Amino acid sequence: MTTFVVHTLGCRVNQSESESLEKELDRMGYQPAGKDISADICVINTCTVTQRASMQSRQLIRQVIRANPGARVIVTGCYAQAEPEAIQQISGVHHVVGNDAKSSIPDRFCRKSSRSESGCAVDTGHLLRQRTRPFLKVQDGCNAFCSYCIVPYTRGRSRSLPLESVLSAITRFSEDGYHEIVLTGIHLGQYGLDLTPRTNLMELLRVIDDARLMDRIRLSSIEPLEVTDDIIERVAASPAFCHHFHIPLQSGDNEVLKRMNRPYTREVFHHVVSRIHDLIPDAAIGADVLAGFPGETETAYGNTLALLQDLPITYLHVFPFSPRKGTSAYHFPEPVPHQVVQSRCRELRILGKERKDAFYRRHIGKHVTVLVEAHQDHGARLFKGMTSNYIPVFINAGSPVPNTLATVEITGFYSDQALCGRIL
Ligand code: SF4
Repeated sequence: MTTFVVHTLGCRVNQSESESLEKELDRMGYQPAGKDISADICVINTCTVTQRASMQSRQLIRQVIRANPGARVIVTGCYAQAEPEAIQQISGVHHVVGNDAKSSIPDRFCRKSSRSESGCAVDTGHLLRQRTRPFLKVQDGCNAFCSYCIVPYTRGRSRSLPLESVLSAITRFSEDGYHEIVLTGIHLGQYGLDLTPRTNLMELLRVIDDARLMDRIRLSSIEPLEVTDDIIERVAASPAFCHHFHIPLQSGDNEVLKRMNRPYTREVFHHVVSRIHDLIPDAAIGADVLAGFPGETETAYGNTLALLQDLPITYLHVFPFSPRKGTSAYHFPEPVPHQVVQSRCRELRILGKERKDAFYRRHIGKHVTVLVEAHQDHGARLFKGMTSNYIPVFINAGSPVPNTLATVEITGFYSDQALCGRIL
């Protein structure tokens, strides 16, 4: 039996594409390699959003080659798209495949494997380990050209999945027993602008909501200008949309935002977050922040910190700026010293942790609906799940069934990253 493994770095779109590859390899009759067992086919779906991500991609490729002697190694993703020559130089890599051809990997590069030695495909009836909350990629590419970002060069212009195809995909997930899907895109807010007839994200959400195909719909990251009042109102009014918004802020200083080529102001971000909080007080509201962009003065950084302190943000993803070759910011003057970048990141992460802690704490004693995801290794009776507002919850008692929605009373913290509770 030919076995495979798919390794993924980077964003939710990459994860969504890896899930599709896994599904297709599974459908072709190949078997996911068990933990610590070497695989026959290894796909590595890389990222290049920063120089560090490129380095991690190279490290992962080497690790996978070492851990899977004799395997067919296929490298794809944004790093493969941006720097194929660098990957070709790594001995042990068989194929380097750009993002455009990623979906054809099973068909083009995995068919003539050791499968032919073992005869025809046999369906062993095994189950592919799938996420309980699968990602559905409805949009790819980006037209925005933020000055620090390589993505428009690695994924091309914005393309959307037609509305009918989105609905069919959700129907299939629903028929397969899923209770939640995560709508993802590289630039989700540009959904539909390329379609004929032209449509938009709000229309997509309206159609999905009205079709009532799925218990829970979660939105991945949406740009500040694209979280419109309409969208917030729809999410607030619908029982299906998760009370969770993730909004990339990057900087709370208007001059820095301009140099980042980000088309909004701190006032816009303030309005969006306040509006979400007013209409959906229990919403998880996360933000990405990029610390140490060239020319980020103490005052500019102070503006970012003050904006975040002023708003009901519930968690932060903090990234240090690292210049990416091929982007315009790579050549920007006034680099911020490394230690200053580190200290700003630290301060922002402390704020993010305090906010998350306070947000989680507010839920102790409450009854919440948890989508039960899986058994935990370290205890047969311990399950992990997720609330609509993005809080991981460990359930200690009872016998919940994975991939069901359960009502849970929150009893306290499981760790600083999760709550725990009991099934009611
Ligand atoms: S919106 Fe900006 S940061 Fe996001 S993918 Fe597009 S260019 Fe990159």
